[in-house]
Amino acid sequence: MDRIDLVKESFVRKDVPADIPAGKISDWYGELVFDRAKMRKYLDSDCYLALLSCTEGGKPLDRKTADGVAKGMKAWAMEHGVTHVTHWFQPLTEGTAEKHDSLIDYDGKGGVIENFDGSMLAQREPDASSFPSGGLRATFEARGYTAWDPTSPVFILDDTLCIPTVFISYTGEALDYKTPLKKALKAVSDAAVPICKLFDPTVSKVYSYLGWEQEYFLVDEALYAARPDLMITGRTLFGHNSSKNQQLDDHYFGAIPTRVAAFMRDLEVAGYRLGIPLKTRHNEVAPNQFELAPIYAETNLANDQNQLLMNLMGRIARKHGFVVLLHEKPFDGVNGSGKHNNWSLGTDKGVSLLAPGKDAKGNLQFVTFFVNVLAAVQKHNALLKASIASATNAHRLGANEAPPAIVSAFLGRTMTEVLHKLLEVPSDTPIEIAGKKGKSVGLVEIPEIFLDNTDRNRTSPFAFTGNRFEFRAVGSCANCAGAMTTLNAAVAEQLIAFRSLVEKEIAGGKPVNIAIMDCLKPIIKSILGVVCFEGNGYSEEWQKEAKRRGLDVETNVPKMFCEFTKPEAVKMFTKTGVYSEIELKARNEVKWETYIKKVQIEARVMSRMALNHIVPAALDYKGKLLKEIGLAKDIYGNLDSCTTELGIIDEISKCVEDVRVKALAMKEAREKADKIEDIYERALAYRDIAESFPGLRHPIDRLEEVVDNKLWPLPKYRELMFIN
Ligand code: ADP
Ligand code: MG
Repeated sequence: MDRIDLVKESFVRKDVPADIPAGKISDWYGELVFDRAKMRKYLDSDCYLALLSCTEGGKPLDRKTADGVAKGMKAWAMEHGVTHVTHWFQPLTEGTAEKHDSLIDYDGKGGVIENFDGSMLAQREPDASSFPSGGLRATFEARGYTAWDPTSPVFILDDTLCIPTVFISYTGEALDYKTPLKKALKAVSDAAVPICKLFDPTVSKVYSYLGWEQEYFLVDEALYAARPDLMITGRTLFGHNSSKNQQLDDHYFGAIPTRVAAFMRDLEVAGYRLGIPLKTRHNEVAPNQFELAPIYAETNLANDQNQLLMNLMGRIARKHGFVVLLHEKPFDGVNGSGKHNNWSLGTDKGVSLLAPGKDAKGNLQFVTFFVNVLAAVQKHNALLKASIASATNAHRLGANEAPPAIVSAFLGRTMTEVLHKLLEVPSDTPIEIAGKKGKSVGLVEIPEIFLDNTDRNRTSPFAFTGNRFEFRAVGSCANCAGAMTTLNAAVAEQLIAFRSLVEKEIAGGKPVNIAIMDCLKPIIKSILGVVCFEGNGYSEEWQKEAKRRGLDVETNVPKMFCEFTKPEAVKMFTKTGVYSEIELKARNEVKWETYIKKVQIEARVMSRMALNHIVPAALDYKGKLLKEIGLAKDIYGNLDSCTTELGIIDEISKCVEDVRVKALAMKEAREKADKIEDIYERALAYRDIAESFPGLRHPIDRLEEVVDNKLWPLPKYRELMFIN
């Protein structure tokens, strides 16, 4: 089937209705999750309480409890037709990993029974030697262990009981995203609690919260299958811009197309069954780009839910004849996709630490955390950028769309003014809650809640949005844990340092509020002059200004990864107990390796498509034109009527030659890069190759404009982006 037929077929595809269960959402919400309600129903009371002290109180799980829990889980799972079990984990690849085992076992009487006990629940040893480990596990010592994370609930996917687990090496190093994330969450809680106690002595735990907003594109699966670049790399490596793309701003928040709406409803149903509280769905800026977001949750759980949801998206899209593109930049010339990470901290007493308080004391607590978060972001701005950097997110970084390649923070007018005022007033000045319009109640005021949603800055990678910070630089296909581990760990380090400063002041006899404010003032002064930026993050002046302020402006992704092993980062991560130096080094190896492979695959696909798809189509058309010219010469005896044909032939010949030369040069560059021993140097060489992609793309996109539409072998942007 040629492209035109595929396009026609995609247009007439019948809508498949969504499959929505009867009753209210709350009737079946979470039915496939072994949540608190199921624990109460399926576990005896001792076992239930022991498990709670493990999930809530952080106690280790003993064998007896594990057996009891496994028994209850099995009973529940069998009611749902479960036949298999898997430890579900997050290795350093994109996506999750699972190895299914059937529940059957010999019964000793010649038959089989279903068997599931505490040991199967608590720990397994998958032969996982092929996952990236950065040399932490030579293949002959390939043992990696998965161990149940009881703080994230077990769930059922199809016929399989899925147990969220951490994944660690035989010698205890983390081989996954979850382990360091959990350590960072503990670190930030441990560091924040003593500061909270200055305000409320009953606080014993601080939670980190994450609300992710997931952006994605949908394309018709038939058209997708006709684009080797989309299939293999997740993005289009060629394609001339459609005449109309997002310039009319008519897609953003527009009516959701019916086929897409049916997909979204099915996805939401699947999410609700699995206890993912999906809340928002809407069209995004680019054609065929959409977003969805759940209600925020504790960060570890929220991240598991995001991983699970990305998997569900792919499966459910197929039912509706779509493929989901989670790549950060599937199409040139229109917006890419990110995953905004809305992040906050809150106490076990239900108090948010990043929202204004109920009184002056609460406000001081808010300002304390607010300022310390910004200090952490300032100190580790380069590292935070490195935490979201990848070969695929590189297409967004610094490319005039969120995020800029500089990590700064946006506070909004109110908080900027509050910080400036705090520098001017005596340290014991209460931070009052702002009165009604015009009525001033104190020297420093903040509103009870920030309602002004217009006071936003879309160009900022780290923006305060009233009760949370929004880390917007995270890539759409990334595991949020990468960014969340670094952010929480950096904040933990800063809080530890702040606490010791304050304690010294208190020991010197200062009242707590004055001690805190005296310690905050120099930090406020510093952040206002460096990391806080309210202007246009995409402007050229900001690039210069940021550099002057000492913020990191690096745009080279392999170089960014070096931040992880610089002394400041190693100190921060080891002090907070999040990563050892060995782990940091190993992870960088994995990052460079992944970067190299991604670019390598793209470069291969690019030159093969150039030579196997584009050049033959162009020559085909050239041949047709030459035949016509031959005919014209036979008939008229001259070429006077062939100026257009000759012009097109000339253009095609030039472009084809350009393509051939550049494709061969790219191949040569790859061969040269592959010979480089040192992995970092090799990654740098591959970065140069990535930078040469637009050069090869250009003549190909030009050919798309010139060659007969009927002969063009690949679905075009206007077809990929406008059929839904
Ligand atoms: P917008 O597009 O305006 O930024 P959305 O409603 O699309 O907002 O998404 C906001 C996300 O932030 C949601 O997931 C929401 O649950 C989450 N969120 C709201 N409050 C908090 C908070 N205090 N901490 C973390 N996440 C939050
Ligand atoms: Mg948002």
